Amino acid sequence: MIIKTAEFQISSPRADMCPATSLPEYAFIGRSNVGKSSLINMLTGKSKLAMTSSTPGKTMLINHFLINSSWYLVDLPGYGFAQRGKREMDKLWNLISHYVLERQQLTCLCVLIDIRHEPQQKDLDFLEFLGENGVPFIIVFTKADKISKTRQQANVEEYMTVLSERWEELPPYFITSAQSRQGREELLDYIDKINKSIIL
Ligand code: GDP
Repeated sequence: MIIKTAEFQISSPRADMCPATSLPEYAFIGRSNVGKSSLINMLTGKSKLAMTSSTPGKTMLINHFLINSSWYLVDLPGYGFAQRGKREMDKLWNLISHYVLERQQLTCLCVLIDIRHEPQQKDLDFLEFLGENGVPFIIVFTKADKISKTRQQANVEEYMTVLSERWEELPPYFITSAQSRQGREELLDYIDKINKSIIL
C-alpha cells in the first residue's frame, strides 16, 4: 500500500467520544516504550505524526490518524506502566478495554511486542483478554534491528511456543523495525488486503 496522505484527526479521552465514522480502524497498542510512536511514524512516512517521547506512558488519549482518506490508524495509550498510581491505571484500563471491546469500527488490533524480550506476563494477560473476548488482533514485533536475523527468528519462535501452550490457533505476526523499516510493506499490505475485502 502506498501512503498518500496521513493526517492527525482528533484525540479522544474516551472510546465513546471517538469520531463517528464507518471507516475501518487499525489500532496500535503496547507497553510504554515498546516503539509504538516510532512504528506509526515509520509506517506513515511522517516522522512527527505520533509523538515519540522519552516520558513513558505520558498520554492517556486515543489518537485517530486518517490514512489515504479511507482508514484510520489509531494510537492507543500504552498499557502496564507500573509507575502510575492505581487510580490512573484503572482509568487507563477503562479507556483501553472500552475501545477494544466496544468500538465497532475496530478491524484489527496490532499488539506491539519488543522482540528482544522474553514473553512478559502483562502482554500475555492482555492477549488472553483479547482472545477471551474475540477481539481480532495481530502481533507486531518491534525494534528488530537491535538483534540479528537469527535471534529474531529464535525469539519469535519462543514467543509463539509460549502462546501455543494457551492457544490452538496462533495470531498472524510481523517483525518490524522503525529504524531499518523492516516489515513495513508486509504490514501495510496486510492492512490493505483487509481493507479491500471490506470496502467493496
Ligand atoms: P512508545 O513509548 O511505545 O511510543 O515508544 P517510542 O516510539 O517513543 O520509542 C521508545 C524508544 O525506543 C525511543 O528511544 C526510540 O528511538 C526507540 N525505538 C523505537 N523503535 C525502534 C526501532 O525500531 N529500532 C531502534 N533501534 N530503536 C527504536
